[in-house]
Amino acid sequence: MNIDLHCHSNVSDGALAPGEVARRAARAGVAVWALTDHDQLAGLAEARAAARDEGMRFVDGVEISVTWRGTTVHVVGLRIDPGNADLAAGLAAVRGGRLQRARAMAHDLQRAGIDGTYEGAIERAENPAMVSRTHFARFLVDSGVVADMREAFRRFLVPGKPGYVPHQWAELADAVRWIGAAGGQAVLAHPGRYGLSAGAMDALLQEFRAAGGEAIEVVTSSHSAEQSRHFAALAVQYDFSASRGSDFHGPDEGAEFGTLPPLDPALRPVWREWGL
Ligand code: AMP
Ligand code: MN
Ligand code: MN
Ligand code: MN
Repeated sequence: MNIDLHCHSNVSDGALAPGEVARRAARAGVAVWALTDHDQLAGLAEARAAARDEGMRFVDGVEISVTWRGTTVHVVGLRIDPGNADLAAGLAAVRGGRLQRARAMAHDLQRAGIDGTYEGAIERAENPAMVSRTHFARFLVDSGVVADMREAFRRFLVPGKPGYVPHQWAELADAVRWIGAAGGQAVLAHPGRYGLSAGAMDALLQEFRAAGGEAIEVVTSSHSAEQSRHFAALAVQYDFSASRGSDFHGPDEGAEFGTLPPLDPALRPVWREWGL
């Protein structure tokens, strides 16, 4: 069964509306699907309805931005109750400040000789309050400054490069607590992307577990085969369940539905108790 538990709509930094994402997932053969927009639940109702029309099992999800020891890490919440007040309040606090950060990012890019990025990014955001680095990257591609999204995130928008502005997101323990309050399971997203040393990864995994984290993503589009094997081994070692998700953001942006390898059957999947 094709299970995909991580992707985005234009409610955050995805390119397609929630219903379009649902139809794309279904067409690619996804049978169990979660929408996990960044810090935002507003797409879930449309996604759920579209998934039902497609005969696809739907999982309410979210991806929370966290600052852990100065590094941005992402925590996915699965099977959350979208009506939970604690989660809603926490996410509202995390979302605040994106517009101001975008101004600072644009200022920094202007100093590097690139004009108009604030307007360009805002124009590309369905909801300006959710403007993200992805919208800046799309503008840099569209205006020919870079050839593709990879280049945008190699030359700009990352620590040490023009357009990067440090930001304080949620505390790790708070994000996990909000997900738990909403009855969901907390999953550490794409651990291979954080560039952490073995010692720092150990500290993150221990802290995540102590906070109530249940699973880590093992198979995801930004992991190489070797990284998937590495995090499969860590899931076993730390007794985490394992998750799988494309992290689809839009057509031609790297990740696509229906193309991920399966989870190693020796792992305990995060969906084991879901009665699928
Ligand atoms: P933000 O929440 O505004 O900091 O934006 C983070 C988003 O930027 C992530 O959710 C990804 O969608 C995107 N992103 C970050 N790094 C990369 C990368 N190296 N390649 C492609 N997209 C990236
Ligand atoms: Mn994103
Ligand atoms: Mn992420
Ligand atoms: Mn994501």
